[in-house]
Amino acid sequence: MKIGVLALQGAFREHIYAFEALGVSTVAVRLPHQLEGCAGLVIPGGESTAIGKLMATYGFYEAVAQHHDAGMAVWGTCAGAILIARDVRDALPDQRTLGLMDISVRRNAYGRQVDSFEADLDVAGLDQPFRGVFIRAPWIEAVGEGVDVLSLYDDRIVAAREDDLMATTFHPELTGDPRFHRLFVEHVVGAPRR
Ligand code: GLN
Repeated sequence: MKIGVLALQGAFREHIYAFEALGVSTVAVRLPHQLEGCAGLVIPGGESTAIGKLMATYGFYEAVAQHHDAGMAVWGTCAGAILIARDVRDALPDQRTLGLMDISVRRNAYGRQVDSFEADLDVAGLDQPFRGVFIRAPWIEAVGEGVDVLSLYDDRIVAAREDDLMATTFHPELTGDPRFHRLFVEHVVGAPRR
């Protein structure tokens, strides 16, 4: 199995290291043809407006949608969660998303950079709490019927899953804890669609 990590901007290297520590092959995806053969794709944290502009330049909006249609799972972390959402609140004017996952995300929901923080999260399916690193993070304000909430922080949804799509508003790749990467590879990739 091969997992692609979108490598246009943001924390993509850390995702690659996390998968490699699990023995999972990865490809740093810089051009759409590199999605070929990827069972899953991670859209990393960073800056959603910058990643989105580069995605448009290189034709990733069409390519990711086509590969997802053909069975590729997608996991968005932080900015990536914004980019896969159906709806974004407090988006910049004309900010475009893939609209794959039936979630509504509020951008920069906790405030500015100084409002970044860490917190222990209870996560559905994980025995022990997971350390969430929130960096100018969004939260998930609403989810559609087919979406399972995986974690709440302060009554706000910070992780969710819809079949072969997953969104986390924090950065699991920065903690050295492989459980979200394992969850993606073992349960989200290849999950049937309802
Ligand atoms: N605030 C950023 C955005 O809107 C996301 C921050 C992050 O990915 N850590 O894209």
